Amino acid sequence: MKEVILITGSSRGIGAATALLAARQGYAVCINYVRDAQAAEALCARIVAGGGEAIAVQADVGDEADVERLFGEVDARLGTLTALVNNVGVLEQKCRLAEISVQRLERVLRTNVISYFLCCQQAVRRMSMANGGQGGRIVNVSSVAARIGSPGEYIDYAASKGAVDTLTLGLAKEVAAEGIRVNGVRPGIIYTAIHASGGEPGRVARLASGVPMQRGGEPEEIADAILYLLGPGASYVTGSILDVAGGR
Ligand code: NAP
Repeated sequence: MKEVILITGSSRGIGAATALLAARQGYAVCINYVRDAQAAEALCARIVAGGGEAIAVQADVGDEADVERLFGEVDARLGTLTALVNNVGVLEQKCRLAEISVQRLERVLRTNVISYFLCCQQAVRRMSMANGGQGGRIVNVSSVAARIGSPGEYIDYAASKGAVDTLTLGLAKEVAAEGIRVNGVRPGIIYTAIHASGGEPGRVARLASGVPMQRGGEPEEIADAILYLLGPGASYVTGSILDVAGGR
């Protein structure tokens, strides 16, 4: 059976590493981005040049109409979706809770939580054996922040990841008998550009010595965990949330 995967927010960082690994494992890949068409198209071209199948689709996954269009493109251009990775995630300038505006809360929760719900709805509709689908797998990318709470940095972001973990647990049980496995990955501190959004591009290097393994993680190390959870080696795993955080 052809494996078709959609990875939200995959023009760079953990999403891009996951797209490359999935393509190497034979998945036809839909790369999603919101702004950086150049990065997404370059990644797509790299996969195709390596003999893989990929498309890049612009869509703001916090917007319901965009999500419907995104899944429609996957149906039309790649075929039946078999795997979804909800990977998109944003954080904003570090601050204390008292300084978080309602507008910021709405932005963070829309991108980090509502998008996961919208994409899960579309995926389950297609995958569920109760609807005549062939089953499938979903991985939701959370964060160790859900356990730590990120005080003085971004409690809004941490709380959004707590919601992602609860979504994973609930949905896994809801669709387990319909041929769909749902799991989560909680990365620790990983070398990507997300930390610049918080105002500290060098954050991983600063915190690395406090990680039990004494280093930050690479996006490829998260991609390995995601592909494991999607793959046949995890055939009896659902509702699990795997920490990939060097012991943090
Ligand atoms: P990143 O490097 O900042 O990349 C974010 C990606 O999301 C980009 O491809 C960006 O597209 C896309 N994006 C942002 N808003 C979007 C929207 N509304 N619709 C569609 N795409 C959107 O992030 P990352 O560090 O790889 O993080 C990936 C996931 O891992 C996130 O869920 C994050 O919370 C989680 N995580 C990361 C770390 C870490 O230390 N890096 C730790 C724990 C958890 P454009 O290029 O078009 O802007």
